[in-house]
Amino acid sequence: MRGIQTTIILVLNLLPSYLLRMDQVAIMYLLPQTSLEVGELIVVPNIDKMNWLMDNKKFERINSKLSFAVVGLTTSAYETINQISTETTYKWLQPSRKWYSQRLTVSRPQLKDASRLRLPTAVWNKVNDNNQIKLDREVMANVLSSYDDSDDLLKCMKHPLPSHRVSKFASPRYLPNGHAYYHTGVDLRAYSPTPLGAMADGKVVFADHMVTPGNLIVLSHGKGLFSRYMHLSTINVSVGDKVKAGQIVGLTGQTGRVEAPHLHWEIIWKGNHADPENFLLQWERTCDRS
Ligand SMILES: [Zn+2]
Repeated sequence: MRGIQTTIILVLNLLPSYLLRMDQVAIMYLLPQTSLEVGELIVVPNIDKMNWLMDNKKFERINSKLSFAVVGLTTSAYETINQISTETTYKWLQPSRKWYSQRLTVSRPQLKDASRLRLPTAVWNKVNDNNQIKLDREVMANVLSSYDDSDDLLKCMKHPLPSHRVSKFASPRYLPNGHAYYHTGVDLRAYSPTPLGAMADGKVVFADHMVTPGNLIVLSHGKGLFSRYMHLSTINVSVGDKVKAGQIVGLTGQTGRVEAPHLHWEIIWKGNHADPENFLLQWERTCDRS
């Protein structure tokens, strides 16, 4: 992955300088200016009467002190540019007024360096139902567009499967038909059916079969955050069930578009895919242990 280029554009939105408060000036020193990676969790301090935004998606509160957002992974370009900005909630100013913004360029591997997936012919033939894939995508878009304002998210999380990583987040790949894309999650080794734990407290919002993911569980953890677990052999939960962090929700397997048995694990926040392992490491430092 190439180095990160960060450019700062300070936009004062033509505000008269006498309106600029010291806390707003201080924000420019609190932004994650040096460690931004594709799929990264960004954690920023809460500031009274101010909202943080990334590409117009509002950061969510972890606790009284911190808020978070996730840098996206789109498949349409080599790089994504995220605009991080703040807005004031002072009653005496327009609520949507942006005080300033910062543009960040996120580097990613190039698709031309993609490796080819060695899918068994039987699997490839089975997962070529393009009509059903389109229907699956529509169902999933609907599932992931829901928003749950629960406080489940504030708690600490757990790794879903104690196993080695066999494919990392955002690695470029291409299919036997030549279609290139970025890996939207992380693959964990699971040669035989292995119990899979929920990453965090939450609610089951999908538990069924789809063409590409195979048997799939989607959990909603509140405030726009979801986790997805794919290629399962067994699903032990149903839509609407409440789950606790570490609760066994199913067994790993090799259903859907797979080369070999493994768990494909994803974290998605408001449509942005996070790097799951990096997310968990950073979350550990900020979550509420009470
Ligand atoms: Zn995968």
